[in-house]
Amino acid sequence: MNIDIGAVSGVLLTPCVCPICGAVYAIPTLTYESRRKNGGDWYCPNGHSVGFAKSRADELEERVSELAREKQDLEKNRKELLKELNNAQQKVFDHEKRIATLEKKVTKKPKQEKPEV
Ligand SMILES: [Zn+2]
Repeated sequence: MNIDIGAVSGVLLTPCVCPICGAVYAIPTLTYESRRKNGGDWYCPNGHSVGFAKSRADELEERVSELAREKQDLEKNRKELLKELNNAQQKVFDHEKRIATLEKKVTKKPKQEKPEV
C-alpha cells in the first residue's frame, strides 16, 4: 500500500514498520522499490538499519534453484515408485497365474479307468 501525498509534493510514500523498535514511518516508494529490487537498506527514524539483504532477483534465483532440486527429488521418487509398482504388479500377476494353475488341478476330473473288455 502506498500513500499518495502527491497533491502536495509529487512523492509517493510506502509505509514501513521498523522490525526492531516498531516505529511506523514512510519512505519514498521509489527508494523502497529500488531496495526491494536490488537489495539494500535504509534507516528508521530511530536509526535502525532495515531493508532487504538480497535483491528480488537473487531471491527468485534461489527459489528457482530450490524448485529445480525439488523437481529432481520428485522425479527420483516417481521413478522409485514406478519400479515398486511394476514389481507389485508382477507379483500379483505371478500369484494369479499360480492360483489359476492350482484351480485347474483342483477342478480337473480324475481320470476314469477304462472298462476292461
Ligand atoms: Zn527502529
